[in-house]
Amino acid sequence: MITLPELPFEEDALEPFLSKETIQYHYGKHHTTYVNKLNELIKGTEHDKMSLAAIISDAGGPVFNNAAQIFNHTFYWKSMTPKKQAPTGKLLVKINNDFGSMEKLKEKFIQAGVSLFGSGWVWLVREPHGQLMIEKTQNAHTPLSAHMIPLFVCDVWEHAYYIDYRNVRLAYLSEFWNHINWEFASKTYDNTDNDIFIGIEPCNDIHDPFCQLLDELQDGDRVTS
Ligand code: MN
Repeated sequence: MITLPELPFEEDALEPFLSKETIQYHYGKHHTTYVNKLNELIKGTEHDKMSLAAIISDAGGPVFNNAAQIFNHTFYWKSMTPKKQAPTGKLLVKINNDFGSMEKLKEKFIQAGVSLFGSGWVWLVREPHGQLMIEKTQNAHTPLSAHMIPLFVCDVWEHAYYIDYRNVRLAYLSEFWNHINWEFASKTYDNTDNDIFIGIEPCNDIHDPFCQLLDELQDGDRVTS
C-alpha cells in the first residue's frame, strides 16, 4: 500500500507561476490517481509489501508506470519553492565545473525541456560516476532506473502547464527556473557526495545516502504491519 505524500506547500503558494487550479488538478487529480491506480494494481501481489523504490526497480508495464509517476511527481513538488533561491556550497562549485556557469546550465536545461518530444520530464541528475547531467525521460521513465540521483525535475507533460501557459512550454520552463528549490538540491547533492556507486537496491542500509533520500521521499509509504 502506497500513500499520497503531502504537498510541501499550500496549493496557491506558487502563484502566479503555477495557479491554485493547476496544483489542484495536478496534485489532486493526476498524482492522486497514480496512487489509487497503483494500489488497485498491486493489491494482493508481492508488490503490495514493497517500498515504492523497490516496486520501481522490480516492476514493468502499468505497475512501473504508476509507481514511477508517483515518485516523479513527489520529486517534482520537492523541486519547487515559492521564493527564488540560488545553489550554494559544493553544488554551485560542481555546476560551474561541469556546465561552465549557471547561465549555461539554465540554457541547457530549458533547451532540453523545449526539445523533449511528447510527454516527459527534465532532470538535473548526478550520474553514478559523480558527473552532473541534464537528463530527459519520456512518459513515466525516471533516472532512478539508471542509478542516477535526481537533484530537481520539471514535469513537461502538458497537464503541468496547460491551464497557465496553454501550449507555451518555453514560458513555463523559464518560470520554473525561478522557482527551483536549490536548498533541497544542494542538500541532496551534499548527502550523496561520495564516489561510491549508488544503486536503487538494496535500500536497507541506513548509511547509504541514496536510501536516506528515498526514505525521506517515501515518508509514509512503508507498510506498517
Ligand atoms: Mn504530471
